[in-house]
Amino acid sequence: MENVTRTLIIIVSNNLRKCFLFYIIIAVKEMESKKFTMIDEPFICEVCGEEVKPLGYTARDHCPFCLSSKHVDVNPGDRLEECHGVLKPIAIEKFKDTFKIIYKCEKCGKIRKNVMAKDDNFDKILEIMANPINID
Ligand SMILES: [Zn+2]
Ligand SMILES: [Zn+2]
Repeated sequence: MENVTRTLIIIVSNNLRKCFLFYIIIAVKEMESKKFTMIDEPFICEVCGEEVKPLGYTARDHCPFCLSSKHVDVNPGDRLEECHGVLKPIAIEKFKDTFKIIYKCEKCGKIRKNVMAKDDNFDKILEIMANPINID
């Protein structure tokens, strides 16, 4: 009988330990996700006036027609930046098996980068790639 009790205590304490680890993992995941808030909503591009639909697989962070973006995030998706200037695409750089669009804020001059979306206007990407605007 004593053995059974001891076994039970071991099982319970093992499970508690697992639960505890599980909670730590969840807490860490939540902290990580605070750095990247998923925002994927339709909007009208204030640069070209096109209606932009949600992207579906990740947050839409720029216009797929003119590639312009807005300076609204400190970390991706957090909307904590108070500048709200237009981010103008100035150059393209290779990123893994896709491309990153390099932006310069027309208001504060900060440089930002966004990964291109699958439905971005590729002619526009090629155009910027061929004629990058000097950052200075
Ligand atoms: Zn646009
Ligand atoms: Zn800015």
